[in-house]
Amino acid sequence: MLRREEAQARISGKEFDVCVIGGGATGAGCALDAQLRGLKTVLLEGADFASGTSSTSTKLIHGGVRYLEQAVKELDVAEYKVVRRALQERIRMLNNGAYLSRPMEFIVPCFDWLTVGYMGIGLKMYDWLAGEAKIFRSRYLNKEVTLQHLPMLKQEHLVGSMVYADGQFDDGRYNLALVKTMVEAGGDALNHARVLSFARDAQGKLCGVEVENNLIGERFPVRAKAFVNATGPWADTIRQKANPEARPRMRVSKGIHILLSLDLHRSQSALLIPKTDDGRVLFAVPWFDRLLVGTTETEVSIHDEMAINREEIAYLLRHLNHFLETPVKPEQVMSGFAGMRPLVSASGATATSKLARDHEVELDTKSGLVSIMGGKWTTYRAMAEDTINEVQRYLGTGVTPAKTIDHKLAGSEGYAPDYARQLETTFRISGETAQHLYLKFGARAKNLLELTRKEPELREPIVAGFSPIRAEIVYAVREEMAMTLEDVLSRRIGLQLLDWRAAREAASLAGSFLARELGWNPEFEQNAVKAYREKITGMLQTAGLPDAERATPADLRN
Ligand SMILES: Cc1cc2nc3c(=O)[nH]c(=O)nc-3n(C[C@H](O)[C@H](O)[C@H](O)COP(=O)(O)OP(=O)(O)OC[C@H]3O[C@@H](n4cnc5c(N)ncnc54)[C@H](O)[C@@H]3O)c2cc1C
Repeated sequence: MLRREEAQARISGKEFDVCVIGGGATGAGCALDAQLRGLKTVLLEGADFASGTSSTSTKLIHGGVRYLEQAVKELDVAEYKVVRRALQERIRMLNNGAYLSRPMEFIVPCFDWLTVGYMGIGLKMYDWLAGEAKIFRSRYLNKEVTLQHLPMLKQEHLVGSMVYADGQFDDGRYNLALVKTMVEAGGDALNHARVLSFARDAQGKLCGVEVENNLIGERFPVRAKAFVNATGPWADTIRQKANPEARPRMRVSKGIHILLSLDLHRSQSALLIPKTDDGRVLFAVPWFDRLLVGTTETEVSIHDEMAINREEIAYLLRHLNHFLETPVKPEQVMSGFAGMRPLVSASGATATSKLARDHEVELDTKSGLVSIMGGKWTTYRAMAEDTINEVQRYLGTGVTPAKTIDHKLAGSEGYAPDYARQLETTFRISGETAQHLYLKFGARAKNLLELTRKEPELREPIVAGFSPIRAEIVYAVREEMAMTLEDVLSRRIGLQLLDWRAAREAASLAGSFLARELGWNPEFEQNAVKAYREKITGMLQTAGLPDAERATPADLRN
């Protein structure tokens, strides 16, 4: 990808066939689909790619066991169709971004035989719905085997478990890989480029946007023949900019996750907690060397701050601890993240937890805006296909087939299970670093490591005890349009997701590399580091976590 300033120069004042607004999973997917169909496409993201919902998901590539249960119990055909389509998309997502995703085993502990039967029937339906796209068949595990898989489970009254397959992926990096793939297919993309307003032609149809580089407040125009609104939770804002009479359609619900040390879990299998007080399911999923636990569901507005509070942590731990031999304490939480589900509602009357995770493509006939609303990460490709079909109908060019079904994402080239070993020997790095780089950058890890030939110190870790190395910061700026500390530490490298205190510790070093690469003056650098450190401190305080520097491994186990 280009450096950001070069990308802006290419886009500013130019005309495109399609302008996609919003650089989350949905927008990046739409932009890739449009570009691959031969439409000259630009993607504009108001903050950073994946900075909205798309890096704050549970990171599951799934049909949704709970949604299937909901579909059956409530005879909800829409929900049933979403599950079936998601199961078909699941295998495509796993195949197209293999280095960023993996199949995973989910275990549902059962404390009576009725639950074994109930879950057994439900999961057989899940297998059946997946059909050819199945990963592996669900099965029953007796108590002894269940405890071999999940040794931390409470043993009393446990009769066994049901185990089934779904996928897991690195959502932020997958989003970025979609953007890179789109750019490598000849498209243009820009982050920190907020759409402020639309321009219209004589017929009242949209023909341009005014965009703001929100890092420096500079404004520039972009023209296009068609506009896609893929702004997720913010979709109504753009719909109403295009047509002030548009009726709001979005309902937004907040979901949080916390991360614990994987030492507490001692397993590579995920735990599914089948029922919470409010009738939901919870997941505890191994995520690198953390256990990712989530999620909650609270209806909010787009103006609410996405911070994690102590009550939300208490809710997750109360349900998790119910299943564990040794309870986890709040002070063992290492980090977390919160995001907003973009749910589309017809009536506006239902609770958000009951709204189908279906998507809807809307053409506003007055302005010509095509909005894609709702959906889920797993179905991003199918959502993009439906959206670009609508764009082609609007443009009157005839609908051509989507080319995304088996289009491999940037970094997939040369994918081989022993790739990390090759990196280890070619660049003389540790197996752990090689594995980390491969899982984040795929085959591009090689390009990143080339930087260390000239500057060997770039092989050093950013923070002692964590896998990310300094070359990742430089690569993030030069090749992935990272412009801020959070762009780097959260979405490019993922350190902020794994450990808030480690990310805070990394701020000064990361700041010095950003200053070098982006030409920041010392005052700007100092302010950026200070603001980032204060933000993390604020997050720790709101979550009710100790504000000390990094916790020791012993603190986290006890
Ligand atoms: C807690 C939680 C857990 C989830 N877990 C899963 C899961 O495990 N699996 C799954 O399949 N799905 C999951 N989902 C759903 C999934 O994450 C979302 O459906 C998906 O990420 C939505 O992507 P999006 O691109 O539509 O929205 P977003 O990712 O929010 O992207 C919208 C983008 O539009 C940008 N934008 C807004 N206004 C403007 C403007 N004026 N100009 C330019 N850009 C603008 C924003 O900055 C943002 O980046 C989960 C969601 C939540 C909240």
